[in-house]
Amino acid sequence: MDRDRNIDFMTQDVWLDLHPYLQPVADFQAQVSAAAADISIARAQTPNFDDYIGDYKAGIPLLRSSHAAVDLEPAEAILVSLLENLTSQHVLENFAGECRVLHTQLSCELNMPRRVVAWLLDSEGFEPMHPGLLRYLGWTALTRFLSPLGDEFGSWRDEAQWLRNYCPTCGSAPAMSQLVGIDPGRMRFLSCGCCGTRWQFRRIGCPYCESGDDHQLSALAIEGEKFLRIDYCQSCGAYLKTYDGTGSEQIFLADWTSLHLDLIARDRGLKRLANSLYEL
Ligand SMILES: [Zn+2]
Ligand SMILES: [Zn+2]
Repeated sequence: MDRDRNIDFMTQDVWLDLHPYLQPVADFQAQVSAAAADISIARAQTPNFDDYIGDYKAGIPLLRSSHAAVDLEPAEAILVSLLENLTSQHVLENFAGECRVLHTQLSCELNMPRRVVAWLLDSEGFEPMHPGLLRYLGWTALTRFLSPLGDEFGSWRDEAQWLRNYCPTCGSAPAMSQLVGIDPGRMRFLSCGCCGTRWQFRRIGCPYCESGDDHQLSALAIEGEKFLRIDYCQSCGAYLKTYDGTGSEQIFLADWTSLHLDLIARDRGLKRLANSLYEL
């Protein structure tokens, strides 16, 4: 067997040359990143993991644990600053009106930033204006704030004690999966489309309805895509975009880089059960 078959080195530029229809999404992200770049970011405080271990074993994600008690208030301020920058720097022309509305709402209404961050983690109890854009910008702010903590959490946690079908950091359903290695030691990881965490899951079966029957999950090859495919479940009709390879996780697991697979899946009547940050 060719061991190197699935080791790839893809760059964003090459990917966009191959998929020019993704360029507007890349431009949008570049503009938001530029607007976020000069916002000073307080470091997320490391929780006492000894206090959290019981919740972790019980399946409570880090950001939802009262024992970990991660303070997300600085992320609220980052989101408000990001909206401020997007509004004042006249970027995101297509979304200028939406950005202004969101900025006014978050800077004028007391407690609104807190409610928005709670909504990002729990999608319920609140119906914000322009939810697609707000979800994207909110997770941009949250992940910038949480990124050092995510690394610490990653080195602390024991993958074998999680193996659940939702993100150990934020609790979201997986947006993608990745197959790593070769048999017999081949492993599957799930990837969070919101906070970017990757975690181990059992190799076979559907992570959405937890059908353990491997015959229930079928793979759909995509013409022209060597490393990406669509796995779908015949029990619940959900699909999971899968990266079969290693080396270019930043490109292949970014979710937006495979929006064309979401279209193919939708055309086939399959359901996306994970949040998307790209329903703009
Ligand atoms: Zn997550
Ligand atoms: Zn299923």
